[in-house]
Amino acid sequence: MNLPRYRRLQPAFYRLQAARCTACRQVHFPSRTRCLGCGSASMEPVRLSGQGRVLSFARMLHAARGFQDSVGSLTALIELREGVRLVAQLTDVEPDGIGIGQEVEMVLRRLRSDAEQGLIVYGYKFRPVLKRQAGAQAQS
Ligand SMILES: [Zn+2]
Repeated sequence: MNLPRYRRLQPAFYRLQAARCTACRQVHFPSRTRCLGCGSASMEPVRLSGQGRVLSFARMLHAARGFQDSVGSLTALIELREGVRLVAQLTDVEPDGIGIGQEVEMVLRRLRSDAEQGLIVYGYKFRPVLKRQAGAQAQS
């Protein structure tokens, strides 16, 4: 990934920034300049919640060039609260600790490093929602 492209994708990678159509309110991720629903070009940035659930998941056995570090990781199809679906790597979980319907939340993690350009790419991954222990809410 080259530096200009990485900079352009940072809002999506770091904050799950999407685009919402001001005409029909449909949310698009990744962002678009024109709505797929109604064709309007009036879009506004919107930050997604980062909260969702696992629809499906698989262990990666092979990876594209530049993503060799991902071999063996878990990748999931996730539906966010806003209805947006995306594919993302799972983190902080063992294979037997994940299931269909599992609630997950977005966390910022290192995705990969590009040794040629000295670039370390950070972006979103998802982990199971940590359950608060009894009494923890009383302290916050
Ligand atoms: Zn629209």
